[in-house]
Amino acid sequence: MSTSPESLAFQNALQAVEAVEPRIAGAIRDELHDQRESLKLIASENYASPATLLAMGNWLSDKYAEGVSGHRFYAGCKNIDTVEDVAAEHAKALFGAQHAYVQPHSGIDANLVAYWSILAAKVQSPALEKLGAKSIKDLSEADWEQLRSELGNQRLLGMSLDAGGHLTHGFRPNISGKMFYQHNYGTDPTTQLLDYDAVAAQAREFKPLIIVAGYSAYPRRINFAKMREIADEVGATLMVDMAHFAGLVAGKVFTGDEDPVANAQIVTTTTHKSLRGPRGGMVLCDETFKDYVDQGCPMVLGGPLGHMMAAKAVCFAEARQPAFQEYAQQVCDNAQALADGLLKRGAKLVTGGTDNHIVLMDVTSYGITGAQAEGALLESGVVTNKNSVPNDPNGAWWTSGVRLGTPALTSRGLGTAEMDQVAELIDTVLKHTKAGVTKTGAQAKGKFELASGVADDVSAKASGLVRGFPLYPTVEGV
Ligand SMILES: *Cc1c(COP(=O)(O)O)cnc(C)c1O
Repeated sequence: MSTSPESLAFQNALQAVEAVEPRIAGAIRDELHDQRESLKLIASENYASPATLLAMGNWLSDKYAEGVSGHRFYAGCKNIDTVEDVAAEHAKALFGAQHAYVQPHSGIDANLVAYWSILAAKVQSPALEKLGAKSIKDLSEADWEQLRSELGNQRLLGMSLDAGGHLTHGFRPNISGKMFYQHNYGTDPTTQLLDYDAVAAQAREFKPLIIVAGYSAYPRRINFAKMREIADEVGATLMVDMAHFAGLVAGKVFTGDEDPVANAQIVTTTTHKSLRGPRGGMVLCDETFKDYVDQGCPMVLGGPLGHMMAAKAVCFAEARQPAFQEYAQQVCDNAQALADGLLKRGAKLVTGGTDNHIVLMDVTSYGITGAQAEGALLESGVVTNKNSVPNDPNGAWWTSGVRLGTPALTSRGLGTAEMDQVAELIDTVLKHTKAGVTKTGAQAKGKFELASGVADDVSAKASGLVRGFPLYPTVEGV
């Protein structure tokens, strides 16, 4: 059997690393093994292609290239310019965006770039104009202090954390919560669905500068056209954080009113979740914000990572292939099948189901917490994460939910029939999990007891299932 170019590339790379620090080569090998063996339902994770992975490990990392393509602070950046241009060209074509800024190192960084771009466009620029100044460098100390205080006193409306929003949407532990006076919108207490009329009423009352839409744990699609109407009515900028579902946008599952890029003024994303690229971020925007967004480095970002922009370009090129659209549709079909499989076994799901890539289980029906469910599932070879449910009785740490996502398993090739088997494994584990107790007999929200034999039995079935769908089949012998 001939060895594939991918196998050779990884084998040689690992040999080179091994010669310097064997523990690192070992960890890289072990990670491949763990990924291959585990039934991964982490909704924010995926498997990047070998071409994407290989584009990251090279000398593009050696170059400093502050600024943007064609306008750098350093000399000799023509190859980094090519990389950034190609990545942006693919991103614009893939998402139908007017402008793409491909430098952000992560989703959080992309959001910071977007927030400061909106503040610069809507607060700083008008202030400069009023003062007749060209640049912030020309302001007197008093005017600058006044402007700084205005920049730091703006309002942001985002989705609440327990309805599925993200910390970077104005919550105190993240810098966005320190920068903005934030209010958040939840979901309807009965249906657990986003209530656009309630969001509109809140926006009219609160008059935010920015409305953020997007989520990490909401199992439904959002009508971004409606969100834009609400934003326009109150003069807010609509920013969509599509970090989780960018793959479903790229794969043309979310179109029309559900397409964030066509409806929002500014869109941020990660590239490593459903989009299946390298770990990184990106900002897409219209002409209004273009020049501000391009100042992301050095405003809030360190020097661009040339090797990561290269890998983003590879990922975007892959996502422009018809096969990616089939993948994105399958991600949603699989989530639907997983939800159906769980519902038919009596499980309770937030919003009663899904129409994206996320299934959010409310595990209180099994008499356990999210932390206990996560632990019992992990011990049984099923990798998920605990997650709050709306108005969570167990709080944000122990939680009452488990979040499941299908992007990773779909990348391996699992389909709807396998999702029913996955539902069976999950239900079996949770049915046999009891809340644990401490030494004094008190209830412990993080401890659990799993009926004997269940973990071994389910683990064997889970690894049997994933072995039928080899991960990185062209990568051997590493
Ligand atoms: C994952 C996520 C982020 C953060 O992405 P990082 O790359 O981890 O910084 C931001 N926003 C949303 C909605 C996310 O789901």
